[in-house]
Amino acid sequence: MTDLVTYRLEGNVAVITLNNLPVNSLGHALRTGIFNAYQQATADTAVEAIVLASAGKIFSAGADITEFGSEQSFSEPNLPTLCNSIEESQKPVIAAVNGMALGGGFELVLAADYRIALPSTKVGLPEVNLGILPGTGGTQRVPRLAGPKLAVEMITSGAPINAAKALGAGLLDRVCDAGADLLGAAIAYARELLENQAPLRSCADLSVDTRELPDNFFNDFRKSIARKTRGYYAPERCIQAVEAACELPLAEGLEREAELFKECSDTPQARAQQHLFFAERASSVIPGVDRKAPLRDVKKVAVIGAGLMGGGIAMNFVNAGIPVTLLDMNAEGLERGLGNIRKNYEISAKRGRLTQEQVEANMALFTGTTEYSDLGDVDLVIEAVFENMEVKKKVFATLDGVCKPGCIMASNTSTLDVNEIAAVTERPQDVLGLHFFSPANVMKLLEIIKTDTTADDVLMTTVKLAQKIKKVPVVVGVCYGFVGNRMVAPYSREAFRVILEGATPEQSDTALTNFGMAMGAVSMGDMAGIDIGVMAAEANKSEWEADKTYQALQFKLKEMGRLGQKTGRGVYIYEGRDKLNDPETVDMARAIANEHNISQRDITEQDVVERTILMLANEGAKILDEGIAYRSGDIDLVYIYGYGFPAYRGGPMQYADELGLTKVVEILNKHREQLGAYGDMWFKPAPLLVRLAAEGKSFKDFAVEA
Ligand code: NAD
Repeated sequence: MTDLVTYRLEGNVAVITLNNLPVNSLGHALRTGIFNAYQQATADTAVEAIVLASAGKIFSAGADITEFGSEQSFSEPNLPTLCNSIEESQKPVIAAVNGMALGGGFELVLAADYRIALPSTKVGLPEVNLGILPGTGGTQRVPRLAGPKLAVEMITSGAPINAAKALGAGLLDRVCDAGADLLGAAIAYARELLENQAPLRSCADLSVDTRELPDNFFNDFRKSIARKTRGYYAPERCIQAVEAACELPLAEGLEREAELFKECSDTPQARAQQHLFFAERASSVIPGVDRKAPLRDVKKVAVIGAGLMGGGIAMNFVNAGIPVTLLDMNAEGLERGLGNIRKNYEISAKRGRLTQEQVEANMALFTGTTEYSDLGDVDLVIEAVFENMEVKKKVFATLDGVCKPGCIMASNTSTLDVNEIAAVTERPQDVLGLHFFSPANVMKLLEIIKTDTTADDVLMTTVKLAQKIKKVPVVVGVCYGFVGNRMVAPYSREAFRVILEGATPEQSDTALTNFGMAMGAVSMGDMAGIDIGVMAAEANKSEWEADKTYQALQFKLKEMGRLGQKTGRGVYIYEGRDKLNDPETVDMARAIANEHNISQRDITEQDVVERTILMLANEGAKILDEGIAYRSGDIDLVYIYGYGFPAYRGGPMQYADELGLTKVVEILNKHREQLGAYGDMWFKPAPLLVRLAAEGKSFKDFAVEA
């Protein structure tokens, strides 16, 4: 037996305690420990019942994902062997479930005869989020115990349910009082079951109750999740597995589940989703930075600028219970900002997501001011004033004079050089960029911009803080546009360029939404504001001056005052909630094409996707090579959480890896040739991409060293 499991006797009850902390991931060693302890209990004639419990805060988070696809995950005792033998036990097995039982952890619980939990316990089957399905009986046992309706909901959404719901549905048998001694209660429950000669219970003896199931239930369910799950492979297989549970005895159902599991495992979607799972865990590790360095305390925050971004940024902290002082340069700006925040909370209350009391409690955490002298006691200040270097420098110089020593000073700039901003202060080590995305209270990405001088503890404090306010932090270096907006430039350039070459704006957008993007690049331009794109283009003139067609359409639109959604007309026409095609835009594009001798032709969806998405990967390669991002997974997170890139494709770098970098180089060179001088200007594969392709490697193999 290993230390990962402890075994002891409480009279006639054997207690097997899982001790692979922190989350009892069910890797080979833990499985072996449980299996051996279980064998010992079954062999001991003095043992009449067996309790399975956890020594940690949670029962088990599931399989050990680092074992996925490896020999280890299959080697005996594998999870199915363990669950099946527990299910066949001739002595009652009682699972004492605390904290969470997820995935394989919950499947182990389901194999027990009886289940007892605390009210705070949650159970769930999140495998679908990794592009697979529960492969150890979850799809067969949940419908037997709780019916097919809850089963498909839980398994296709991956969302855990609380103990009360699980009890009501039959997935738990007993829930103790809050604060009760769960292990004591489980042992007492075991004795009670023995005393009452309660039967052994196995899902093998149960069939799925379909009597109440409406006709066409599964097809209707498919339709109801079709939009949300478009592009994903696993959800449909999850449904098929539950359908099989309704038709087959347990043993055959388990076989079908195993087949479907295997089908899912070997898909680009599963690889993409698992890549993101690991990328998220890796993103808080910053090469060369001590993760264990003492953090700074952030109990009070200030936000400068009560505009669109400032308001949303402030809400994130208040939502996490951290008080915020909101400063704007004048009383009207401040009032408007606070009013917008209240409106936002009121909308949430109307939708039932907040109570009126919560709205008031949140509002009470805001203090409005127009005086910088009120910021002397804050631990973190985030500047979100106009995107103008001189204005920002003035703000930081003022903050330097009023903020207490050790206060972290951050800018939400989208493009400006944070080194230059830091340099106006006497404490550049405390300065960094915290780049939120709009709407800042919704979008999950936080680009954390490390300057040449940012102190390690400042970085680590903000990484941890990001997690506290439920953001995904990605640490990047200083360059124009950082990772996200820098990559958007060539992506968007191609999405607009194909319009000059003969695609309609709608065709350009549709190619990208069909690829899975939340929105096409052209619509994104209209949403962000045509003037914002033009401003960025002007700031980077040296990069495109040789290309006279660069953003030619946007420059023209800006000249005409067609700034996008905010003026009701940009590339498209906006009427209420409707977006309409504008024939005038197409005529303008044709005129620009004529002016620059671009012959128009049919552009295929594949052309658009190759030219835009691979441009993201190509720019990403430059960013990696320059050390602006540490890992390709970081870049992927930026695109998934900040730009609506489809998670089932794993991000632009993972998409390129999946295609194979040799193929990516080939495609870029194909366009380079086809597009003549324009191709020569923009379609040169990045040196890192060429290098990795030649070595038969992928972006994933490349990481910046500390
Ligand atoms: P905004 O115009 O909506 O708000 C700016 C606010 O700052 C206004 O309320 C203004 O009164 C206030 N302000 C200006 N100068 C000030 C000063 N010296 N002291 C105090 N307050 C001052 O702008 P926004 O869209 O919220 O953008 C703010 C920053 O966030 C910019 O740097 C922008 O690049 C960045 N950003 C914007 C977006 C976006 O999608 N809008 C996304 C990410 C980052």
